[in-house]
Amino acid sequence: MADYMIRDGVWKSLANFRLPESLGFGIVLAPVMYSATYSEGQWSQGELLPYGPIEILPGARALHFAEQVFEGMKAYRVGRPVANLFRARDNYARMRRSAERLAMHPVPEPLFFEAVNAVVGACTEIIPGKTGQSLYVRPFLIGTEPGYAVRASHSARFMVIANPSEIYATGPMKVLIEREQVRAAAGGVGTAKTGANYAASLLGSTRAVEHDYTVALWLDPTSRENIEELSGMNLFAVIGDELHTPVLNDSILPGVTRDSLIMLARAQGWTVIEKAMPVADLLRQISNGECSEVFACGTAAIVSPIGVIGDADGRRYQPNTIDGRARILREQLLAIQERRAPDPYGWTTEVVPLVKPRSQ
Ligand SMILES: *Cc1c(COP(=O)(O)O)cnc(C)c1O
Repeated sequence: MADYMIRDGVWKSLANFRLPESLGFGIVLAPVMYSATYSEGQWSQGELLPYGPIEILPGARALHFAEQVFEGMKAYRVGRPVANLFRARDNYARMRRSAERLAMHPVPEPLFFEAVNAVVGACTEIIPGKTGQSLYVRPFLIGTEPGYAVRASHSARFMVIANPSEIYATGPMKVLIEREQVRAAAGGVGTAKTGANYAASLLGSTRAVEHDYTVALWLDPTSRENIEELSGMNLFAVIGDELHTPVLNDSILPGVTRDSLIMLARAQGWTVIEKAMPVADLLRQISNGECSEVFACGTAAIVSPIGVIGDADGRRYQPNTIDGRARILREQLLAIQERRAPDPYGWTTEVVPLVKPRSQ
């Protein structure tokens, strides 16, 4: 695979970029992006270009069949000149599995890392450096072949965009149990990181927000009895002295953060139980105090406490503890992600900064 091209305007966009005072999450756009295309069995040379609109044929399958998969990862640069990624190989492996589930041509691993390293490397100087801040990196793959024949595209585009961001956090979340709709079908694409699952969740999420909740809490698609996850975060509960989380199945998205928290929890001797989590049991355990704490996790928010679980019948359940074990895990994980603590798992990798050649 050839090295990528650096298009006109890249250095100028980077030089002109100023980080705004307030970043939020996923709002500020990095001034550069990476793009490569796949057709006739081959990947094109990639290119780094100024962030801007792309052309896509209106008949492209991404627009009609939701032929799209994506990833979300973070690059940190807290108190260091060089940025580092967190568990990027796991994001690659998941994107590959997501693409395979949608019958798309997976992005080869070297191309994925060329793209991510190009964007993070180019953005090194503009990655905000306070604790909790990062460059959120969003690789995605879309099917670009036009046509209504129900099969996968023979052509695709792979891109990486990024956002200088704060932790995605709004204080303790209020989650509303969605009793009717499901996010992902049994045997569907729930384990793939694909926009289709978000499309399925939008009505429930919108209703939750209208009722003054942060986000919807999804149940399993078969019995609607077991807790699965939030629209973009996995869920944990502290029950007695144990940490519980729904066991992965064919409709839960296997989060990298979820996996990291399980490892950190076990490393400090906590018991972690991965099994089906009936919602009726959890609500009873919150009411009688057996369940002291509930929290969610994902790359964007890292670990976010849940203050209220609301049910469709209007009842509200409030765990006694907010941000107890959640805070411990968040601080431990963030310290590794920001390279302030030793990284015994080899989770972090440095990204070589991209430096403007003297001649340009
Ligand atoms: C991305 C995502 C998560 C969290 O995964 P991380 O790898 O921890 O960021 C959880 N659920 C869904 C549906 C997701 O899309």
